[in-house]
Amino acid sequence: MATYRCVACGRVFDTISKSLIRCPSCAYRVVEKVRPPVTKKIKAR
Ligand SMILES: [Zn+2]
Repeated sequence: MATYRCVACGRVFDTISKSLIRCPSCAYRVVEKVRPPVTKKIKAR
């Protein structure tokens, strides 16, 4: 699953199917991929 953001209304949503990526709010089909805020902790040795 990936997170996308609609470029028209700015709504962030998750996609379930890869074939149909569409904004659930305004049905706009131009979206940009959003990386979820994942904090990686790496120990420096
Ligand atoms: Zn939208």
